[in-house]
Amino acid sequence: MKIIEENMTASDIDLLQLLLPEYYGPDQVSLRLKELDWDEEFEKDMLTGKGFIAFEKPFDRDKNKNLYGIHSPKFGTSFEDENGFAERYRCKCGKMIGKIYEGETCHDCGTKVQFVDTDLKIFAWYHIENPEFKIIQPSMYKKLEAFIGKNYLPDMIEFKYEMDLNGYYQLPDKTVLTKNPYYGIGMLEFRKKLPEILEWSLKKKKNKQALYDNIIENYDKIFASNIPIYSSVLRQVFLTDEDYSYTKIDKKYNSLMANITMLNKQKEITVGTTKTINLSLYKAQRKINMIYSFIFKIINQKEGHIRENILGGRINFSARNVIIPDTTLRANEVRLPYLTFLELYKPEIINMLMRMEGIGLTGAVNKWSQAQMEFSPGVYEVMHYILKHTKYGCQCIINRNPEVTGYIAAMLYRIFLNCWKLSQRQSAAKPSI
Ligand SMILES: [Zn+2]
Repeated sequence: MKIIEENMTASDIDLLQLLLPEYYGPDQVSLRLKELDWDEEFEKDMLTGKGFIAFEKPFDRDKNKNLYGIHSPKFGTSFEDENGFAERYRCKCGKMIGKIYEGETCHDCGTKVQFVDTDLKIFAWYHIENPEFKIIQPSMYKKLEAFIGKNYLPDMIEFKYEMDLNGYYQLPDKTVLTKNPYYGIGMLEFRKKLPEILEWSLKKKKNKQALYDNIIENYDKIFASNIPIYSSVLRQVFLTDEDYSYTKIDKKYNSLMANITMLNKQKEITVGTTKTINLSLYKAQRKINMIYSFIFKIINQKEGHIRENILGGRINFSARNVIIPDTTLRANEVRLPYLTFLELYKPEIINMLMRMEGIGLTGAVNKWSQAQMEFSPGVYEVMHYILKHTKYGCQCIINRNPEVTGYIAAMLYRIFLNCWKLSQRQSAAKPSI
């Protein structure tokens, strides 16, 4: 159902679709998260030149970056490099590099040297050569874990069979099979038997039909032969004279590489190699899961990059205060501290100072800054003047995070300025700039 009136502008329609998607076409506005197919992404990256296979150690003996390591120069240069960041100014073919050539035309490709930002879409990939050996894509692993069971799944993928004297693989303790018939089968068997395991699990957990359907829908994305490694620009390594200092994630990537190299040495599955292959796959899987949770931790929750560093910054003309009750105020009134008012009305105050005292912008800004460091009776007077002479009174939006009640407490409040004494105490404290 769509209710779009003829005289609506494009932005009206956009806004309505945003606010009332169910009435204005949910298919056009809804955001959908999709499971990634790692093998498909790998192929895409290799075709477009955005990806490369990593098979070398990150650094050689002289601490130079290896071209096919996870700190490859293909990601771009960093602080440690000679001419670090020089490649950010380059021509198309890359022959002319550096800011000193900015604007000059390259003789080879005929393009001008200009600023090119670091490409974060470049990925290194660990590639498992044998198509029989596959790891589980970690977000699908989470789903399998939720469906099969947190205790069951790790027991299944860890190979626990031992070879007996006749050369047959046997389980040391067969009693575990009554509870978990797929106990200790290892990664290789797990992949073959997964449809059967899912059916077995579904019989026990009828309430998980929706999750089951989701897993089946994404079945071809569960197993992968390629593992992506994001740009080294985002995981800096620090070199000292004696040592490298890797990030947590890098340490895992490095030890994961040992497992991948091990797997790529195994040409086929025989009785002799079954155990080695299974264990290498299992160890690789555990590391991939850990890397996945590290990455999640970096961006997730209140301490994550997104909320703490990207959204957590202060916006101009805004301030943060502790809300305390005041019985002398009406429901739509608020008393603001001196410092908060100073910030919220920064342009107005500076404008007033310029007009009242006949000074220039720089002088007024300096006065304003000084009033932030030390209480200024003059500026306080200006504030009162603004409060008194603004048509309909001064108003501000206050917002309390909705963690207590769930409704957004953003309302317009009429401002009263806090009393003299409190403001003096306030300004004695260090202002947060
Ligand atoms: Zn060129």
